[in-house]
Formats: sequence, structure tokens, C-alpha cells
Amino acid sequence: MPAATNPNRGDISPDFRVAIIGGGITGINLALGLQARKIPFTLYERAPAFGEIGAGIGFSPNAERAMTAIDPSILAAFKAAANPNGEDYFQWVDGYATEELLFKLHVGKDGFQGGLRSDILDAWASLVANPSSTVQFGKTLASIDSDSSSPNVTLNFTDGSTATASVVIGCDGIRSRVRQLLLGESSPSAHPHYTSKFCYRALVPMDRAVAAVGQYKAGTRFMHNGHDAHVITYPVGNNKLLNVLAVLSDKEGWADKTKTTGPGSKQEVLDAFAEWGPTVRGIVNLMPDQMDKWAIFDMLDHPAEKYNKGKACIAGDAAHATGPHLGAGGGMGIEDALVLSELMNAVARGVGSVEKALEVYNEVRYARTQAVVEATRRACLLFHWQVEEVGNDGSKFGKEISPMFLKVWEYDQEKMAEDALAKLEG
Ligand SMILES: Cc1cc2nc3c(=O)[nH]c(=O)nc-3n(C[C@H](O)[C@H](O)[C@H](O)COP(=O)(O)OP(=O)(O)OC[C@H]3O[C@@H](n4cnc5c(N)ncnc54)[C@H](O)[C@@H]3O)c2cc1C
Repeated sequence: MPAATNPNRGDISPDFRVAIIGGGITGINLALGLQARKIPFTLYERAPAFGEIGAGIGFSPNAERAMTAIDPSILAAFKAAANPNGEDYFQWVDGYATEELLFKLHVGKDGFQGGLRSDILDAWASLVANPSSTVQFGKTLASIDSDSSSPNVTLNFTDGSTATASVVIGCDGIRSRVRQLLLGESSPSAHPHYTSKFCYRALVPMDRAVAAVGQYKAGTRFMHNGHDAHVITYPVGNNKLLNVLAVLSDKEGWADKTKTTGPGSKQEVLDAFAEWGPTVRGIVNLMPDQMDKWAIFDMLDHPAEKYNKGKACIAGDAAHATGPHLGAGGGMGIEDALVLSELMNAVARGVGSVEKALEVYNEVRYARTQAVVEATRRACLLFHWQVEEVGNDGSKFGKEISPMFLKVWEYDQEKMAEDALAKLEG
């Protein structure tokens, strides 16, 4: 459902304006969706510029279809920044000495390609027309004033400035301020929780990776699995870099409910994988001597009961932060951006109300996104051979992991958007 085919209803109300809080993957996709539908918006981002960390990310087929439906130029920009797949398969390997193939899953032609987060976000940011009038950097949302008798909400920023909008959409990430404001700061759902998994991330030069583990292992997507840990690798940056993510089950509890990163070293990763096979040890050996370790938080233990309240809602990680294990979190935010673009387009043209549109958004997105958060936790247990009845049995593993990925990838988001508009009009 490209934006161009979206039926135009009435004229856009001159007073209608969407406030987007946060300019990560979700916020920028929403901004581009509103832009394509000519809906006035302002994106408020606390950082001084759009930016992402220098690490890899992969977008699954459902995420690609959502990009196209929001605005085909989003997919084109992603594809231009994405790395070609060595093979169109996701392959899981026993990480120990045998390095036996456990299971492989077809990702579709050129599917689930990886890329550098910073390249992709830069490419999307360059699609924002007139950023000087639609984007305000250095704006950290502090609070929202809303009164049901007023058509507007007032946004209060930490620098003392204020702004008004018809609707506020919090795309402000895993530690979302908007979520805290909607649910109450003391609610356990207002905060993400530690999954007892943590990770080390690195980009290693491809020539060194090829020298260490060979072209085949370095040139395409692999995951090496074992007891209480896994290592996922895929090429990024026009085959100049190998993206490495090593995930460990936390036995010592170094992270608590507030700590998300801490100092780490190559030596501790080498120690953790000392008993593993040559590929994993070869790759870990290429990681930098000093690096951060990242605690993995999600929203499974205390999910937000709803993603909306009045004229405000949350989207992307702000609503349903999930671990990285199904490579699905970013794609869920893009699907949210699609349905919100369609709903805001309808409301701005006089169909339904903001409140109803956000109720509908919650209704069509809640079950799918919560299921992904839950499945992601389970996937990591499978990767770490912590599911007793599956263990390291490749056939049992494949039977369980394959539908988990396919459920994410094969979702009919065109129907989602159509259902949402029908519910709004009904
Ligand atoms: C190790 C790892 C690997 C992953 N790999 C994948 C993958 O391969 N594929 C995939 O689809 N997903 C992946 N994910 C998940 C994905 O990274 C996230 O789902 C995605 O980045 C969330 O985007 P977002 O825009 O919702 O939030 P964020 O990226 O967190 O963006 C939030 C933005 O809001 C801004 N902000 C925050 N608070 C305020 C405020 N009060 N006022 C104004 N601005 C504010 C922030 O500065 C930021 O720019 C991975 C996650 C991790 C941790």
C-alpha cells in the first residue's frame, strides 16, 4: 500500500499537527510517512542531530514491506545502504569444535540484509524535506499537559520551552519519557527490565575476518550457538566490515534495573568463549581490546497495558522494547509508523478523532508486538541451549525457531492498515 494509493479524503484540517518525540528508527519512519501524506508534523529530538551508533542492524522482509508502504523511498534508501547477502540464508551452527550446521532458514531473495545503523539512519534523514521547519533538535520532552476540552496537547521541554500539537506520539525509545507520563512513573510498566542477557558488539575489518575464519564464514549471516551464549555475524559496510554481536547469559548479575552499559574487554569475551570452536575464537580475537558490554532490557515482565491514552501514544521501543534475538525490534517500530501514518492521514482529513485513532492503533498493534517480545526471549533460550527438550538438537531447534521468524516476516501489514482504517471509520 504505497502512500500514493492512499485514498484522499477531505482537506487536511489547517490546525492539525502531529508531535513526534524521538528521531530514531521509529520516529524518522513516522516523520517520512506523515511527510508522504502531507500531514503537518514536528519531530522533537533531544540529541543535537540524527544519529545512530556504529553497529550493524538487519531488516527482515516485513520491515521492508512496511518501509515501502510508508514511502517507497525509505526502502530504496535502506537497500542502497544495505550489504548484499553472501547467501540468502540464516544459518545456525554448533559453536564448538565440530561447527556442525544445526539449521538453515531461507530469508527470501536479498532478504534480511544487514547494514550499518549510522548509514541507514543518515540515508533516511536525508529524505526529510525542510528539516529546519519540521525537526527541532536539542529538545528533551519533560511533560505533557492535556485537557479533554482542548483540541491540543501542550508539550513542556526541559529547556523551559513549550509547544502545542493535536497529538503526541512517543517514539522515544526503551526509556521513554512519554511511556512514564502515560503510565505513571511509579508503575513497573513505565520502565524496562533486565533480561539477564548481555552482549558485546564490534565491527571488525572484513579482510582480517576473512583471514581468520575464511570467506564463507565471514561473507554471510551466521549464528554460532552453544551453552549459555551465542555469536551472530553478518557483513556490513559494503563488505568492508563484519558485524559481531556476542550474547551471554548473565551468571553474575552485573547489570541491575538501571545500568545498561559497563566497561568490558576482549579478554573477558575470550575467556567466556575459551572452550568454543575456531570460528568463534577467531572472530572474538579480532574484537577491540576494550569495549562496552550492553545489558539487554525488554518490556516482557511488565508490559504497558495499553499504548495510548487520550491524545498521546507510544510506538517502537517506547511501547514494546524487545531483545535483539529475532532481529525484529526495529521492524516492529516501522510497522507502527505505517499504521500511525495511515491513521493520522485519516484523522487529519476529518475521519474519526485523535483519541479513537489511537485506540485503534493500540488495538491493531498490541497482540502482534507483545508476541514478538515474548518470542524473542524464548529464541534466546533456544540459542543458548537452555530449553531442555531441544538442547543442541538441530532438527528440534529448526522446528521451533523457523515458525518464530516466519511469524514475524509473513505478517500481512496491508490488511493491518486496512483493518485500522475500517475500525476508525466504523
Ligand atoms: C544489540 C541489538 C541489536 C539489534 N538488532 C536489530 C536488528 O537486527 N533488527 C531490528 O529490526 N532490530 C534490532 N534491534 C532493535 C532495534 O535496535 C530497536 O528496536 C530500534 O532501534 C528502536 O528504535 P526506536 O526509534 O523505537 O528507539 P530509539 O532508537 O531508542 O530512538 C529513540 C530516540 O528518542 C530520543 N529521545 C529519548 N528520550 C527523549 C525525550 N525525552 N525527548 C526527545 N527525544 C528523546 C533519543 O535520543 C532517540 O533518538 C537490536 C537491538 C539491540 C540492542
